[in-house]
Amino acid sequence: MSTKTTPMMQQYLEIKAKHPDALVLYRMGDFYELFMDDAVVAAQVLDIALTSRDRQAENPVPMCGVPYHAAEGYIGKLVAANHKVAICEQVEDPRKAKGLVRREVTRVITPGLILDTQNLSAKQPNYLAAAAASSDRQWFGLSFLDISTGEFKVVELDSSDALVEELLRVSPKELLLPEGCDPEFSTRLQHHLQTTVTPLGYDSFDRKRSEERLIEHFQVHSLGGFGAAEMSCGIQAAGAILAYIQANHLGHSPHIKRLLPYSRSDFMVLDEATVRNLEIFQSNSFQGRKGSLLEVVDRTRTAMGGRKLQQWLRYPLLDLASINARQQAVKELQENVAIRTQVLSLLEKINDLERLNSRNTSGSVNARDIVSLKKSLQVLPSLKETLAVCSSDRLRDLCTDWDDLSDIAELVEQTLVDPPPVNFNAGGVIRVGVHPDLDHYTRLSRDAKSWMADYESSERQKTGISSLKVRYNKIFGYFIEVSKANLPSVPAEYVRKQTLVNAERFITEALKDFETQVLEADEKRLELEQQIFLGLRQKITRESERIQKMAAVIAGIDCLASLAEVAARHDYCPPLLDETDEIHIGEGRHPVIEHFMPAGEFVPNDLDMDHDNQQVLLITGPNMAGKSTILRQAALIVLLAQIGSFVPASEARIGIVDRIFTRVGASDDLARGRSTFMVEMQEAANILHQATPKSFIILDEIGRGTSTFDGLSIAWAVAEHLHDFRDRGIKTLFATHYHELTELARTHSRVRNFNVAVKEWQNDIIFFHKLVPGATNRSYGIQVARLAGLPDEVIGRAREILTHLENEGAPSSPRSELTRKQKRSAWNREAGVQLSLYRPSLEWLKDQILSLDLDHFTPFAALQALYAIRDQLRRGNAVTPEDLKRGSGAL
Ligand code: ADP
Ligand code: MG
Repeated sequence: MSTKTTPMMQQYLEIKAKHPDALVLYRMGDFYELFMDDAVVAAQVLDIALTSRDRQAENPVPMCGVPYHAAEGYIGKLVAANHKVAICEQVEDPRKAKGLVRREVTRVITPGLILDTQNLSAKQPNYLAAAAASSDRQWFGLSFLDISTGEFKVVELDSSDALVEELLRVSPKELLLPEGCDPEFSTRLQHHLQTTVTPLGYDSFDRKRSEERLIEHFQVHSLGGFGAAEMSCGIQAAGAILAYIQANHLGHSPHIKRLLPYSRSDFMVLDEATVRNLEIFQSNSFQGRKGSLLEVVDRTRTAMGGRKLQQWLRYPLLDLASINARQQAVKELQENVAIRTQVLSLLEKINDLERLNSRNTSGSVNARDIVSLKKSLQVLPSLKETLAVCSSDRLRDLCTDWDDLSDIAELVEQTLVDPPPVNFNAGGVIRVGVHPDLDHYTRLSRDAKSWMADYESSERQKTGISSLKVRYNKIFGYFIEVSKANLPSVPAEYVRKQTLVNAERFITEALKDFETQVLEADEKRLELEQQIFLGLRQKITRESERIQKMAAVIAGIDCLASLAEVAARHDYCPPLLDETDEIHIGEGRHPVIEHFMPAGEFVPNDLDMDHDNQQVLLITGPNMAGKSTILRQAALIVLLAQIGSFVPASEARIGIVDRIFTRVGASDDLARGRSTFMVEMQEAANILHQATPKSFIILDEIGRGTSTFDGLSIAWAVAEHLHDFRDRGIKTLFATHYHELTELARTHSRVRNFNVAVKEWQNDIIFFHKLVPGATNRSYGIQVARLAGLPDEVIGRAREILTHLENEGAPSSPRSELTRKQKRSAWNREAGVQLSLYRPSLEWLKDQILSLDLDHFTPFAALQALYAIRDQLRRGNAVTPEDLKRGSGAL
């Protein structure tokens, strides 16, 4: 900093001191400027030139700037790069200011406080969340707000695991945590969530202050009306959110109308791993919407509908009546093509009412936005008329509660021209007839042209200069132009203003008067237009609750119509939901995979599960047979059924499930720095702790991330546990390459073996993708490798090795000096160890003992056999056939 600080720099420094953690964008004329360290940071992030304010000074102040009319994009980039941005505006009219223009920070923008549509994706919510814990850390509160729509929710949870799960489901863009809160917890959160964590002082979370803040904001006597009065931690969290938006100048947000409490037990629980594995919102291969379930089922026409559909997918229902209500509405729209087509095409014309409404209340709308609001509202009467003939309860309810909002549409229609000019300051935004003074001023400036023409012809006559022109330009204002040749005829009262090459420009008294009048008129007109526009915005703000309500209604209709459209286009069927523990799917398909295949190529599969006979289904089959597909399609069908959608099947009966768990073996989670096996086990542990007999579990090749025996043992134990769970068991689909697991079906009554059929044909493998009863005992790995394009020599050698392994126990190699018998026994020992790891080894041991030929045993041999058994058991190893034979070999 130079030693002599200008008044402006002084002002800047004072403002900056209040916002040390934000990049301050300081408004100067048509630019936002950044200074000093802020400038250095911003220039780099935005890739713009870094200059300096006073180049001659000893220590010039670094500076950079962005034009105000394009600021949104730049602000978006800064926020995306995790910077907090403070917008410092001129808060008085520079023309009227005496001395330095007053400036103030009018908004602070963080990832959770974005309002402008340019920096938001239309179909994504943008949540700011806060979490709080009770002092004994037994109880947790989570609240989240989408300031761009006004959605504000709160929930309480009884464990930190549940809190993390719910946070992952909400996936906020920014999370407020009490300053100095358990660092381990905060690290854990940051680890899971890709979000900006903002610490906030404890007083922001104070229970009493939070409650007061909420009561004051909503202008209510208590929070009882919202049903949130008892939510102590929840109120703390919600209050912290209000404190934060107040601190960042968004406290006055009248579009935040209510706080909506919900309970986790009202919705199906989908943990983060399940959402990821089922590729509901993002596909793993494309890392985006492409290839996800959402891409297939989202045919919503509005941004609000798009956001709501995601919410439906994130929060599937448990209540049979609510599910059926949605499904009936979908059915009606699916069956009635004419209504559906009409509804969809009307929805197409509706803009993002929710965000337009919020931006109107926060003051960041222009005339074009308000006109687009009007255009959207004008669609409402036809939409209602189209839906009026519907008979399903849900659609009828929506129509009963309908509000056309035609008064608002009418008001805008009467006030604003359509389309309004891009540049507000050029005038002409407000219609003629709205205000008599405005019309007067408008006439004045509009009449300027004819006045000029009249004046021109009268001056020509007076002077006799036929080429004389009366003109206007921005720099010189009004003037009379006379060519050099005619200068002698110029009258004395003409005052010279400017000399050009071939002409001179003059001004006269009359022209000057006129100019003052016109300029004044322009100024007054602009002022009046601004006033009228502001008045219009305020009137709309007063109706914001009504707009919000209809926005929600439209979002709902959009979701229902979208699901109906998907059902019709992809030939889905309405599932029958009930409270049983059964799942029956007839000719089910995978909604996404089928989508990417030529029509009719996907092979449908039946699936039947219940709690009596077929509860844990072990599905074996070679790689690429279609195991994972069958698992996922079952989960997706259940999920779709419980959001009220039709499902990709020819028939389905689904007993409502409370949670879907999906785990995939050896999922690569290196990005998060956990070993794959660790991840797998953590995820499995999570299931075993949280599942209930009403849950539905999908395990795809778990136990893969470790050595064969460990993996097999874990898989085995997990399968047993799920079968025996609270004496009832849990519906589980278990795809595995461990053929040994199929043994479980013999000892566990509700375990069933299935396999995905393949056929070997001339060294090739044919995939039928058909689920059939029974176990497989081969993995067809070589055939699959061949299909995958491994070179013939490699395939040939692999076959050789396999044959050896199958016959001899090990491939022939020069180092192998073992006799054939030794190899066999090594092989057997391994088989024995393998068996020892799971409980049926006792079964096996029993078999072994029963098979001993005791009639021909000497007492000594019997004793030896007994020793052998005991020693092996002591060592924790199982008895191998060799050991026993050694015992009996003493015969
Ligand atoms: P696995 O888990 O048994 O290795 P996947 O379920 O991953 O096999 O399926 C492998 C591929 O086979 C899929 O990507 C898909 O292209 C195809 N496939 C799977 N199931 C079917 C089916 N039912 N109909 C047609 N193709 C299928
Ligand atoms: Mg698989």
